[in-house]
Amino acid sequence: MSDTQPDAVVVGGGLVGKAAALALAQSGLQVRLCGVRDAAPAPAAGFAQRIYAFNAASRALLQRLRVWDQVPGARLQPVAAMRIAGDGAALRFDAAAQGVEALAWIAESDAVERALDLALRFERGVTPQPQRVTAARRAAGAWTLELDDGGRLGCALLLGADGRASRVRGWAGIGQRSRPYAQTAVVANFACDGDHGATAYQAFVADGVIALLPLPQRQVSLVWSAPDALAAELRRDPAQLTQRVQQALPELGAQHLGGLRAVGEVGGWPLLQQRAHSLVGDGAALLGDAGHVVHPMAGHGLNLGLQDVQALAAVLAARGAQSCADARLLRRYARARAEQVLALELATDGLHRLYAPAWLAPVRALGLSAADHLPSVKRWLAGYASGLGVLS
Ligand SMILES: Cc1cc2nc3c(=O)[nH]c(=O)nc-3n(C[C@H](O)[C@H](O)[C@H](O)COP(=O)(O)OP(=O)(O)OC[C@H]3O[C@@H](n4cnc5c(N)ncnc54)[C@H](O)[C@@H]3O)c2cc1C
Repeated sequence: MSDTQPDAVVVGGGLVGKAAALALAQSGLQVRLCGVRDAAPAPAAGFAQRIYAFNAASRALLQRLRVWDQVPGARLQPVAAMRIAGDGAALRFDAAAQGVEALAWIAESDAVERALDLALRFERGVTPQPQRVTAARRAAGAWTLELDDGGRLGCALLLGADGRASRVRGWAGIGQRSRPYAQTAVVANFACDGDHGATAYQAFVADGVIALLPLPQRQVSLVWSAPDALAAELRRDPAQLTQRVQQALPELGAQHLGGLRAVGEVGGWPLLQQRAHSLVGDGAALLGDAGHVVHPMAGHGLNLGLQDVQALAAVLAARGAQSCADARLLRRYARARAEQVLALELATDGLHRLYAPAWLAPVRALGLSAADHLPSVKRWLAGYASGLGVLS
């Protein structure tokens, strides 16, 4: 057993785990972060495959953690407009019309993780370590963890930021509900002839959902949520993928992008909807994909995880003399997250179901056109997507 026992152990050194360790240390806890690897260096040319849209609430958290300003401006693309199309109708959001600086900020996962690694080096309240946790038991109000190098670690509070296949969830006795979508997200970057105008495009098409996110240097990042068989075919044949995306540009309302050229590798992510029965257990809490996985069509999975971090850090910062593993504190965290997690799950899953049957096309088109002409509805949607509530 390690001689200095931390208050909390964060299991999982992904983006959510690293942010959680930093935020909790800033709330006054001594934190051990297990399973950490340094982020990959920037690619020699172009952008890494894993690209995220960060909303305003996530950016605000990363600014408070002194991480955001360390992400090089040349690797960040603010989103000035968003166009969502389907069945011949479209809904458009503009940052200027909503009175905000940007609707979202596009960045590579690795670029943000490099900035988190730097911040972690300067945070004395966090001890990062590469060892992974292989087992955990709770007895007499404390956890004992076993590490993959044979070491042991004790703590009062166990935090699972260990992704969709979370083992912390099981160790804490928390069940889950999981439903595969029979879709795979095909991910690739393209250089384009035309200017994307800092616009994000998304279209509901017969073969799933296609999204193009703007990147700096006239590039775009594709996320195509396609039926599994088609996704496998597209991943095997990048030339066919480029051709199919090129053909979809009119449906996306993005003909002006002109010719597309694939840059880098094509990736694939099996899609599912998953939610833990509770975000907390006895002396334990879940954050990020360990607690909830949503369809990527709205680009919100990581944003939800970062807002978990924000909520847990706020609850723990206000704990006074209470133990950080106090059941009432943990329940307060679970309550704080319940509404937003459920709302996004219902919204993404509802859209997935709504766009499945072809016979609903006229109704959907009517709905999109109507929403496009209702500024108050657009304002509400943009406010919710920002993670900051309705924009005032
Ligand atoms: C195609 C696609 C596009 C997406 N786009 C967006 C987007 O634009 N915006 C957005 O907000 N979200 C997006 N998401 C969702 C986002 O990818 C996830 O929500 C996010 O990566 C979850 O982060 P996490 O840190 O919770 O989990 P992970 O990234 O899975 O990290 C978990 C970490 O825990 C470690 N670990 C696991 N077990 C152990 C153990 N026993 N001991 C120690 N370490 C362990 C793993 O090695 C890993 O490092 C997208 C998802 C997909 C599939």
